[in-house]
Amino acid sequence: MNQGQQKRLAELVSQPVQWQCDLSRYTTFAIGGLAEALINVHQLSELQPLLWFLAEGSIPWRIIGKGSNLLVRDEGFSGVILRLGGEFAAVSEQVGDDGLVVVRGGGGGSLARLSWHCSERGLTGLEFGCGIPGTLGGAVIMNAGAWGQNIGSVLRRVKLMTAEGEINLSSGDLNFSYRCWKDFSRYQGRAVVAMAELALQRGETVAIRAYCSSLQEKRKATQPNEYANAGSFFKNPPNDSAGRLIEASGLKGLRVGGAMVSEGHCNFLVNTGGATASDVLRLMQIVQDKVKRDSGVFLEPEVHFI
Ligand SMILES: Cc1cc2nc3c(=O)[nH]c(=O)nc-3n(C[C@H](O)[C@H](O)[C@H](O)COP(=O)(O)OP(=O)(O)OC[C@H]3O[C@@H](n4cnc5c(N)ncnc54)[C@H](O)[C@@H]3O)c2cc1C
Repeated sequence: MNQGQQKRLAELVSQPVQWQCDLSRYTTFAIGGLAEALINVHQLSELQPLLWFLAEGSIPWRIIGKGSNLLVRDEGFSGVILRLGGEFAAVSEQVGDDGLVVVRGGGGGSLARLSWHCSERGLTGLEFGCGIPGTLGGAVIMNAGAWGQNIGSVLRRVKLMTAEGEINLSSGDLNFSYRCWKDFSRYQGRAVVAMAELALQRGETVAIRAYCSSLQEKRKATQPNEYANAGSFFKNPPNDSAGRLIEASGLKGLRVGGAMVSEGHCNFLVNTGGATASDVLRLMQIVQDKVKRDSGVFLEPEVHFI
């Protein structure tokens, strides 16, 4: 960005621009180089003009949520990183014509917080999200899920924002697969999930809360939390688990620099301290090669890359 662009960018948003921002602070992996600029977008009215400005100036940008499914490269990002907060964390609800309760959340709000909020309101359908550490926007992109359920099955509507304006998509227009919103690739690099509506049923608050707590307990018992990580690194292949295949290949505890295949759950690659993105990428490649050789399965990363 030239000086004029930097000045204009700072004028377009209410929050201060963070120049040369260390992205390791914004990923759960605690890894990543510098972004030229990071902007917290707090007002709906700011978003379209901002996207227009970035598109017009051909300035590269990426949006991130809580960075809980991201590996940011050591060289960082030469462009603008956007994060949603403020108005984009709002939640509201109304009863739909079909008796279901429609919960509307901003793309920057916490999925886990929304899940607990719904459980307190006696709404069932989003319990699986109570331990997923991302945003609602990130969950839509990833079709986040757990315990056999995913966000795609409760989504009713998604509002995207692009440089040209809003795009409203209803459930019939949305096409999800395992950990992926398939159709989003057609908007990749151009659209932000600004808002999503979920259709939930009424249930028993006490039972819903107890179910969420039991899911949290299961998570604690099965997922390692001693080191920074990005959750499951690879997608599970059909009818198998990536963790099982990695363990069967004898890779548990394998280290490259500060990156390690978790000893608690082999599908978690962890940062034992000071890992670089290059360490993680090298470890990823070793795991992919060995599992492919041993079982013929190519492990596709679930983690996204910047
Ligand atoms: C300990 C741990 C446990 C986890 N458990 C689970 C689990 O059980 N199930 C599961 O599915 N995942 C799990 N994850 C992974 C992760 O939490 C989810 O994939 C989550 O949905 C990512 O959301 P995020 O806001 O952090 O997105 P990010 O990681 O910040 O981004 C992920 C992708 O979404 C895009 N994106 C983010 N926000 C937006 C937006 N508003 N508009 C457009 N694009 C956007 C980014 O550009 C990127 O491509 C876990 C992660 C950790 C660290």
